[in-house]
Amino acid sequence: MSLLVVGSMAFDSVKTPFGAVEEALGGSALYFSLSAGFFNDVSLVAVVGEDFPESEITFLNSRNVDTRGLQRTAGKTFRWKGEYTYELNEAHTLATHLNVFETFSPEIPEPYRNSDYVFLGNIDPELQLRVLRQVNQPKLVGLDTMNFWIERKRDRLLDVLKHVDILTINDGEARQLTGEVNLVKAAREIRDYGPRILIIKRGEYGVLMFNGSDIFAAPAYPLETVFDPTGAGDSFGGGLMGYLSNVGNLDDETLRRAIVFGSVMASYNVEDFSMNRLRSLTYREIEKRFKLFKALTHFEDL
Ligand code: AMP
Repeated sequence: MSLLVVGSMAFDSVKTPFGAVEEALGGSALYFSLSAGFFNDVSLVAVVGEDFPESEITFLNSRNVDTRGLQRTAGKTFRWKGEYTYELNEAHTLATHLNVFETFSPEIPEPYRNSDYVFLGNIDPELQLRVLRQVNQPKLVGLDTMNFWIERKRDRLLDVLKHVDILTINDGEARQLTGEVNLVKAAREIRDYGPRILIIKRGEYGVLMFNGSDIFAAPAYPLETVFDPTGAGDSFGGGLMGYLSNVGNLDDETLRRAIVFGSVMASYNVEDFSMNRLRSLTYREIEKRFKLFKALTHFEDL
C-alpha cells in the first residue's frame, strides 16, 4: 500500500543533559519519512526554505523517500528550539519560528492523491485538514500533534480528528486534550472524537494502544545511551505506519508488530542527536532489536 506523509522539515536547536546541537536537521516529516523508508516507499509533502541543503534531499531520495511534494520557497526553513531536563519524556519548547510555514499551503501532487495510507505529521491542524481535502478516500489516516497546536488550534484539531483512524499522541498531550488525568478515561474520550485506534506514547515507559476493547502495552527498549529524545515520536510513527502500509492490513497481530517496529525505530533514534543514528542504521539492526523486544516481553503462562 502506498504511504504519504505531510509534516515539518526543520532546523532544531536542542539541549539535553548530555549535550547540545544548534540548527541540526529535524522536523516531524523528516524523522517520519526516514524511519518509514526502512519499510516502504514514502511520498513526502512539506516545505523548506532556501537554506535547506539539497544534499539532504538527495539523501532522503536514496532512502525510499519521494520528494516531488517537497516545496522549496523563498525564506527560511522552520526552526524549533527545545530543551530536555533529566525528565527526558517532555520537551520544553523555547522558541518556534514558523518561517516558510506561515505561508505554506500543502499541494498534493496528482500521483499522490490516491495514496492508501496517509500520515498527518505534527503541523498546524489547518494544514492537516487541507491535505485531507486533496486525497481520495485513503484506506487509513494517521495523525500526530503536540501541545503547541492543542493550545492554539484545539477546535481545528478536533475537526481533523473526526477523519482520523489512528492517533499517536503522548501522555501529557492526551491529558491536555481532554482535561482528564486518568489515561484510560482520556483514551475513551479521545476515541469519541474520531480515531478508532489510539496510541499513547509514554517516552521511556513505552506505549499503550487502545483498539476496540483491546489494550496493548509495549515497553520502551531499556537503553544505556539516550542522548536526544527529539524525533522519538515521529520515528515511532514512521516505523508504525511504514510497517502497516507494507503489510496492508490492520489485524491485531499486525498492529502489535507495527507498534514494536515503531518502538524499535524510536529507540535507535534517541541514541544520538538529530537524525544521526537513523542515518547509519541498517535493516539488520532493526530486525535484531525487534527480536530483543520479543525476548524482553515474553513470559510463560502458569
Ligand atoms: P517529536 O518526535 O515529538 O520529538 O517531534 C520533534 C520534532 O517536531 C522536531 O524535530 C521539531 O522540529 C518538530 N516540531 C516542534 N514544534 C513543532 C511545531 N509547532 N510544528 C511542527 N513541527 C514541530
